[in-house]
Amino acid sequence: MYAFAPSEQQLALKRSTAEFVQQELCPLITAGGTQFPAEAWQKAGMLRLQGLAIPEIYGGRGLDALQVFLVLETLGYHCEDNGFNFAISAHLLACAVPIGLFGQESIKAEYLPLLSDGRLIAANAMTEPASGSNAFQMQTLAEPAPDGSFVLQGNKCFSSNAPVADVLVVYAANDPERAHMGGITAFLADRAIHPFTTGPAIEKAGLHTCPLGDVFFDQVTIQNKFVIGKTGRGALIFNRSMEWERACLGATHVGNMQRLLDKAIQLMKQYGKDTFGDAARQELAYWQAQLDAVRFMGYAQAWQLNQKKANPRGGSSSKLLISELYKKMTIGLCRLLGEKQYLDQDFSRSQADAVSSTLYSGTSEIQKQIIAQAIGL
Ligand SMILES: Cc1cc2nc3c(=O)[nH]c(=O)nc-3n(C[C@H](O)[C@H](O)[C@H](O)COP(=O)(O)OP(=O)(O)OC[C@H]3O[C@@H](n4cnc5c(N)ncnc54)[C@H](O)[C@@H]3O)c2cc1C
Repeated sequence: MYAFAPSEQQLALKRSTAEFVQQELCPLITAGGTQFPAEAWQKAGMLRLQGLAIPEIYGGRGLDALQVFLVLETLGYHCEDNGFNFAISAHLLACAVPIGLFGQESIKAEYLPLLSDGRLIAANAMTEPASGSNAFQMQTLAEPAPDGSFVLQGNKCFSSNAPVADVLVVYAANDPERAHMGGITAFLADRAIHPFTTGPAIEKAGLHTCPLGDVFFDQVTIQNKFVIGKTGRGALIFNRSMEWERACLGATHVGNMQRLLDKAIQLMKQYGKDTFGDAARQELAYWQAQLDAVRFMGYAQAWQLNQKKANPRGGSSSKLLISELYKKMTIGLCRLLGEKQYLDQDFSRSQADAVSSTLYSGTSEIQKQIIAQAIGL
């Protein structure tokens, strides 16, 4: 059944999230800051923002994908620190979710409560210096040992949260020749137990409060109980976590876009018709129409994820259109409003933050490849 209106329960979820973010979280956020906001991270744990999709028996909120989308959209609207919002999303969607779906029982019982309330920070480590879009062509090796453990050797890069992470979800090749056909394994690596090292936070164009860096494994032994899923099932686990990312990560971008549009509408009202003219009003209306369209696409894709049917075309389409609109709209609004937006750095900061949205979770070209394949091309 199609339901185009939010239920009472969904509205209440958005209201309670908005209240918490405005009253509890925002005072701890310095918009325009450059450091990871550790205090805000801890506070977010009170609402278990880091464990929205994790079942309640493991300390999470037990929300479905559409509810997760609604909460993240609300966070993205009210919290101007897009880096913080991204750090929360990366931790939740690419780390807590795959551990929750595929982790061994003892690991889920031990780690998910700590991940859900923010006592631990997680990072996903897939990308390597020589493999990005071709992620499964990785060089990091997981050499099996006779006692069932694995010895990891190799380097990861571009890992969001890594410089401050306590745990990693890391992918390594147990059989490089088989690659995604059974040759990749996913692991939980715990900094307190497994001596991997991380580089410093790398200077980058945007998302400054979400530290991003390298990860190094030098003969790091990881015991069998830290294997996520089964040996050789890493590609499936990674793809499942990407389904969640592609369905829900764009929610914060949708919230961010609406915040900027609302501010733009206020500025237009404030300065009046003579300043902006009809063309500008129409352009703003067109941005709003496009945002309304991709928002519903995001809701639909999150709902699809709840149906537990693989839908790579829907996930990639939603990710592609939300991120491309995010990039174009943030640039477009800065141009359209001219000097009138210049005093509110939210506009230019969001522009810098939006640039990478067409790269992470698979670039726009990779989303188009997935869609092309799904429609038989
Ligand atoms: C802000 C940010 C956060 C990130 N966070 C993480 C993280 O937490 N964990 C993690 O593991 N990685 C992370 N990444 C890495 C990200 O996943 C990769 O950047 C992405 O997969 C692209 O890989 P690449 O940069 O090596 O580009 P490449 O794969 O080298 O691609 C270069 C260009 O070629 C195009 N291209 C490549 N292959 C094809 C093809 N088959 N067809 C058409 N065009 C193609 C790409 O679209 C791109 O334009 C992050 C990146 C950014 C920018």
